[in-house]
Amino acid sequence: MKYFIQTFGCQMNKSDSERIAFVLEQIGGQKAQDAEQADLVVINVCSVRQSAVHRVYSLIKKLKEQKKKIVLTGCLLPSDRKKLQDKVNLIFNIKEIFQLPKKLKKIGIAIGQSKISVSSLRKNYLEIKPLYSSFFSAYVPIMTGCNNFCAYCVVPYVRGREVSRSPLLVLKETKKLLAKGCKRIILLGQNVNSYQGEIGEKTIDFSQLLKMIVSLPGKFWLSFITSHPKDLSDKLIKTVFSSDKICKYFHLPIQSGSDRILKKMNRGYKVEQYKKIIEKIKKEASKKKIDVAISTDIIVGFPSETNSDFEKSASLMEKIKFDMAYIAQYSSRPLTFASSFKDNVDSSKKEKRQEKLFKILFKTALNNNKKYLNKEARVLITGFDKKGFIHGETSLFKNVRILNNDNLTRVGEFVKVKIVKATPWGLTGRILYFSET
Ligand code: SF4
Repeated sequence: MKYFIQTFGCQMNKSDSERIAFVLEQIGGQKAQDAEQADLVVINVCSVRQSAVHRVYSLIKKLKEQKKKIVLTGCLLPSDRKKLQDKVNLIFNIKEIFQLPKKLKKIGIAIGQSKISVSSLRKNYLEIKPLYSSFFSAYVPIMTGCNNFCAYCVVPYVRGREVSRSPLLVLKETKKLLAKGCKRIILLGQNVNSYQGEIGEKTIDFSQLLKMIVSLPGKFWLSFITSHPKDLSDKLIKTVFSSDKICKYFHLPIQSGSDRILKKMNRGYKVEQYKKIIEKIKKEASKKKIDVAISTDIIVGFPSETNSDFEKSASLMEKIKFDMAYIAQYSSRPLTFASSFKDNVDSSKKEKRQEKLFKILFKTALNNNKKYLNKEARVLITGFDKKGFIHGETSLFKNVRILNNDNLTRVGEFVKVKIVKATPWGLTGRILYFSET
């Protein structure tokens, strides 16, 4: 049977889909190019925004017309689960992925000849081997869940409380990836800064985990997402700048530039604290004369957000000069604390506020990227486009389009590039020579 996995949402869902793919292949499934060519479609759902949920509903409608077998998993709210259970063949909890073969069989979905004994699948879902979608860049989850209960967010309700993965198992997975030639490891967690792994009686924090990973031999980039500003310590900043292997890229969601709104959001920090963290990061970068990139998430139109609250978000963006920002219009999510607030910022206002922040981002991202003009940059080659241009990324996740295709460059290699053009969303360069890191 041919399968296709449609993933919505964050990197954590993408990483979970790699585990689902592994299980399906072990029981004889073959990956289809797209949903149309598949017999079985697994939808890995995201409920963080209502727009993503709408997309899931319309996809299910289309797949049903095509008479596909449909399986749902991911961050699914109980209310959606109830509405969808009669429309799909199966809904399963990602943490019970080891039971997927049995569940598929029970509802009459025969995948094919099993390559493994199903009982050998690990009970702890993060220990199920992923079928990595890339050989040179891999997501390695270090924890799941979240304890923070930000007022607008469904994650603690759909993913549960924080559970940190054993540092030794994280190291084992990373070692295997590096041995196979992986060049970039991206550690994943909803709030990596609160990682608390255990080795026997000893508790390992996130800084210690980073140090353990960079002590592994080999030349590779190590990155991580997502950090919570309230938990980003000086120790962690020092650790990031202590090793060439750790990418100087911080994704640090601010969500609002107004203390009043941050309090209503239950974010646990004030704007001044956030600014201080950014100052420390930039100071450390300038001391070491290295580039740093900072990205963020911002919500516009949170209940009761006034023009003055919004202007504080806008001026914060002007001040911090983010390299990237994921700017979303607030949408009320069931179960969350904010769902009891009146969603009283009308949609045209949300639209205008979002547009204004996009304009600021356009300007700051362009100015930040212009700093790379005529300079050399190390680029990890990630692919080729239809026109034959090579594409890659720097250690700061800057997209680079490369003009000179020398026909020798291979995906997954590092090259040295001279930057000749900058736009807000990327750079253009020419290959100078190959580089090991
Ligand atoms: S930190 Fe807040 S926004 Fe992030 S996953 Fe946890 S509850 Fe959601």
